[in-house]
Amino acid sequence: MFDPRRLHYLRVSLLSGCNLNCFYCRPAESEMPPGVAQRDPELFKKALELLYRLGVGKVRFTGGEPTLYKKLPALVEYARSLDSALLLGLTTNGLLLDKLAGKLAEAGLDSVNISLDTQDRNRFKSITGVDALDRVVGGINAAIERIETVKLNCVLMRGVNDHEAEALVRFADRLSVDIRFIEFMPTRSSPSCDHRFVSGDAVRSHLPFDLTPVASEAAGAARYYRSPELNIRVGFINPVSHPFCAECDRLRLASDGQLYGCLFSSRAVNLFELMERDDDDAETAIGELVNSKQYLGCAGATQSKEDLPSFISMGG
Ligand code: SAM
Repeated sequence: MFDPRRLHYLRVSLLSGCNLNCFYCRPAESEMPPGVAQRDPELFKKALELLYRLGVGKVRFTGGEPTLYKKLPALVEYARSLDSALLLGLTTNGLLLDKLAGKLAEAGLDSVNISLDTQDRNRFKSITGVDALDRVVGGINAAIERIETVKLNCVLMRGVNDHEAEALVRFADRLSVDIRFIEFMPTRSSPSCDHRFVSGDAVRSHLPFDLTPVASEAAGAARYYRSPELNIRVGFINPVSHPFCAECDRLRLASDGQLYGCLFSSRAVNLFELMERDDDDAETAIGELVNSKQYLGCAGATQSKEDLPSFISMGG
C-alpha cells in the first residue's frame, strides 16, 4: 500500500498549550491555541494502536508542552504495552521533569530530549518569559537519574544566544549528555527569521573543538560529531541548509487529530474523525499521505504563510 520506510517515526503533539512563552515559538494573538485543552487519551491510544499496526516503530510525545498533559504517563504505559521494542521518547522544556521523570521511566519511556537555548538565567527569562532556568536544570538532572537516554536540544539565533554554543556544549559535557543544535526554521510565529538564522555549519566551524563526524552514528535527522576533548556527541539538525526530505520517515499527529506528512505542509488528514468512521478509511488516507510525503516540501522550499508550521500546535 505504501513504502513502510516512510512510516517509521510518529511525533504526537498532545496539546497546544505551553508553560513557557518563547518569543520565537509563541503564536500570534489571532492564532493563539485555545488554552490547554486536554483531548481524551482514548483518541491518542486508538491512533497509536492503528499507526503501530501500520509500521510505526518509534513514537515521540511533544506539544505544546507534553508534560502538561495529565495522562502522559498513562499514554506512555499504553504505548509500551503495544510492543516492548517500540522506541518511546519525549520532547519537553524540562520544567516539570523534576516530578515526572520517575513516573515516566516506570511507564516505559526510553528517552527524553530537553530544549535548552541558554545557560544564562536572564537570557532564559527574556527568551521564554519565565524565570525558570533553575527548574529546567533540576528537570535535566532528574531525567539523567531516571531515564535511559537524555539529550539537549538547542536553537541558536543570531544576536540572541549564538555566542553561547561553546558554553552549552561544555555544560552538556559536564552532564555527559549529547547536545544537538537545531537550525532556526521559518514558522507561522516567525515567518521571516533570516536575520536570526545561523547555519549548523557556521555553528560547527566556530566551536573550538576538533570535531569529526561519526558516520555510523548518523541517527535520523541529526549528524553527530565527536571530539577528543569531549565525552559526548555534538549533533546538528540542519533542515534549512541541508533539507533531509529524502530520508524523512516522520508523521506528525497534532492534538486536534490532524495527521501531517511534513512539518512544512498544510496537507493533513483528520485521523480522529476518520477512525470514528472506519479503520479502513483511516488506513487508506494514511497511505495516501505517506505516499505523498516526498512531494510535500521542506524547510528549504519557498512556503506560503499558510504552509508554515505552527510548532506550538504541530510539535517542533
Ligand atoms: N515544549 C516542548 C519543548 O520545549 O521541547 C516541545 C514542543 S517545542 C515546539 C519543540 C522544539 O521546537 C523546541 O526545542 C523549540 O526550541 C523548537 N522550536 C520552536 N520554534 C522553532 C523554530 N522556529 N525553529 C526551530 N526550532 C523551533
